[in-house]
Amino acid sequence: MYCESFMEDVSYGAVEHIAPKSRFPERALNWDNLGYSCPRCNTSKGAYWSDDIELRVIDPYKDDVKRHLTFQGPALFAKDGDSRGALTIHKLKLKNLVPLLLGRMLRMEELERLIVLWLKESRPEYKKLLAEIVEEACSEDVEYTEALRQFAEARGFPPPPEWV
Ligand SMILES: [Zn+2]
Repeated sequence: MYCESFMEDVSYGAVEHIAPKSRFPERALNWDNLGYSCPRCNTSKGAYWSDDIELRVIDPYKDDVKRHLTFQGPALFAKDGDSRGALTIHKLKLKNLVPLLLGRMLRMEELERLIVLWLKESRPEYKKLLAEIVEEACSEDVEYTEALRQFAEARGFPPPPEWV
């Protein structure tokens, strides 16, 4: 849920308590406090929590991730130095992780091929079909969705409403 990796690539997933169960035992089984996280992110976050929302790790289910984090190619940054974005990257140790950079890069190379086909296509029906294929390659079910969507937009692909 935090690093956008598929669990199968990393290892078995872990149930993440967004508000840590050590401090909020009464919320331990609330559905809206549970996420499905990879064990690495789960361990990095641990029982970290702050009563000040500005000092909390971003909750990808509730917070507008784009306000806090941005991708430049495969690299993740805090958006315009956003402090919650920077805190999230720091606490979850998401900065410059080689497997994540490599994973995003490989997917971006595939996506780039599709976008070039879409860019070059002039026949309207084929262009529409290729646009659907690009959207599918950036759907919620793929790894690194947000990184791929930002890459596609930067390459001039118009974002469909569900990306915003
Ligand atoms: Zn993770």
